[in-house]
Amino acid sequence: MVAEVDDQINRFRFILKDVDAVPRFLHNFHNGGEIVKSATEILQGAGIVTTRQRVVLLDMLLRRDDHPDAERLLVEARVGMPSLSVDTVYRTLNLFVEAGVIQRMAVPTRRARFDGCTDPHDHFLCSDCETIQDIPRPSKRAAAIPAQVSACGVVSDVQTVYVGVCRRCAAQFATSEPRRAE
Ligand SMILES: [Zn+2]
Ligand SMILES: [Zn+2]
Repeated sequence: MVAEVDDQINRFRFILKDVDAVPRFLHNFHNGGEIVKSATEILQGAGIVTTRQRVVLLDMLLRRDDHPDAERLLVEARVGMPSLSVDTVYRTLNLFVEAGVIQRMAVPTRRARFDGCTDPHDHFLCSDCETIQDIPRPSKRAAAIPAQVSACGVVSDVQTVYVGVCRRCAAQFATSEPRRAE
């Protein structure tokens, strides 16, 4: 399991090389591959009492860009904290979301997904494997809110999600589904 996590972190480092154009991501590997603020500093800055569980869970989210669900975080966090419960993970993630430390993603996935990067960016969701990839915005400035949207209510958050089939799944479909002769 630890090897698998290491593997993931290395993969993210690799991905980073391609995203130099990303506007400054505050506390994520996106920012040149290092975390600018530690999980402890972020929690303290948000006025959240630091506990080992909270620090570990936030740190896990800061070090990755796969936008995991609570169960995935639970499995990985249990390596170091065997008594951690799924309830605690959900409660902690909700606390983080309410404090604006992480974001709960507006994506049509089976389980809620979480993003440790709160700087504005968009996402590509694969409807087949449910991987979620970050897409930097060309401009840091938020797009203007259309009048029709404002007429519905006050906008507090805009999340753009492009839904489709990722390159890996598309390649698999291409090789695993040979066309039958009619
Ligand atoms: Zn996919
Ligand atoms: Zn993201």
